[in-house]
Amino acid sequence: MDHFLYRDGALYAEDVPVAEIAAAVGTPFYVYSTATLLRHFRLFDEALSGMDHLVCFAMKAASNQAILKTLAQAGAGMDVVSQGEYLRAKAAGVPGDKIVFSGVGKTAEEIHTALTGGIRQFNVESEPEMETINKVALDLGVTAPITIRVNPDVDAKTHAKIATGKSENKFGIPISRAREVYALAASMKGLEVIGIDVHIGSQLTELEPFRLAYQKVAELTETLRADGHNIRRLDLGGGLGIPYERSNDAPPLPVEYGAMVKETLGHLNVEIEIEPGRLIAGNSGIMVSKVIYVKQGEDRQFLILDGAMNDLIRPAMYEAHHDIIPVIEAEPGTEQTAYDIVGPVCESGDTFAKGRMMTPLQADDLVAFRSAGAYGAVMSSEYNSRPLIPEVLVNGDQFAVIRKRPTFDEMINRDTIPEWL
Ligand SMILES: *Cc1c(COP(=O)(O)O)cnc(C)c1O
Repeated sequence: MDHFLYRDGALYAEDVPVAEIAAAVGTPFYVYSTATLLRHFRLFDEALSGMDHLVCFAMKAASNQAILKTLAQAGAGMDVVSQGEYLRAKAAGVPGDKIVFSGVGKTAEEIHTALTGGIRQFNVESEPEMETINKVALDLGVTAPITIRVNPDVDAKTHAKIATGKSENKFGIPISRAREVYALAASMKGLEVIGIDVHIGSQLTELEPFRLAYQKVAELTETLRADGHNIRRLDLGGGLGIPYERSNDAPPLPVEYGAMVKETLGHLNVEIEIEPGRLIAGNSGIMVSKVIYVKQGEDRQFLILDGAMNDLIRPAMYEAHHDIIPVIEAEPGTEQTAYDIVGPVCESGDTFAKGRMMTPLQADDLVAFRSAGAYGAVMSSEYNSRPLIPEVLVNGDQFAVIRKRPTFDEMINRDTIPEWL
């Protein structure tokens, strides 16, 4: 459920007409709903109630300071994968002891920043990385809390580019080698082993792969405890999918996920940590774009928008589907027509949808891409010298620009000219 609904035929973001935001900031732009962000965070928080737990928002999905602050004020921790994200989380007021550092290639500089600024734990992904964390911690005279990310070799049954839990993926250490690697970690004086981490992929639409992975983690917890390790926290990653197509079967709900977590891990008396990104932010944001032209091709009609692949890359990168809806609804009973919906970038990959049935649209009409709040703005670029598009946050009947559109001069003047030119 989200808060982008029609009222009398006009699309609203909470209590604000989307067309009003478009008039104020120009198109294209992203707009997020505070109520939806908070609702999704709380669904997870409640799904794990009864267990000691922390929901850490995977901020690579959406990292605007205003979004982070909204979630942090509701009690969310953050899962970060770079120094930049760590510093963003701190800038949004998240205390270090609620920040988890994930990612397959943390540098000594990144580790240093986190150890001096405060960190809940590092999720270690390899032995060389473990050695680096140990060394930086010893140099600083502190101990670094760590989990080790295990790769359970389960098929997440998702898009290949976002599956991470098979043995062929670059992530974590093979679960078969876990005892050996935990023994090595325990021998390092700069480390404190506190738990186990697993994250098998993104946009999962079934619970079964999670269940398989968590059962393996439960077994490993008992084995490692028997080996003498004090395993007291399990980081279960993120990955629960969202319904990008309203017409399709819905993925499992957070409450069903939470019940499965209790079933598989509840008996272990551990603290549970989860790192959802997409399910919190995905349906909390839309991208709004304007029709520039309707072009008649030989056998098809093209809807050419002012938004493009540089603004929302998911269709080009993951063959992702986004529902695209008019901001002003057609009269009831209006017949639909098929459009290829494209952006103006000079690549055939700049295609959002083919043969999509829509009510007829004209130049200057507005459309909204649903479920664009996660992996949308954060993956945007200025390809074709199209300035980054603005982000707007709605809260009830208020809205605010939370990242402004750079001017063309600002974009151009980021480059510098060597003295010989
Ligand atoms: C990307 C990622 C997540 C978030 O995944 P979602 O599918 O957005 O929930 C969580 N943890 C790690 C380690 C990740 O890389």
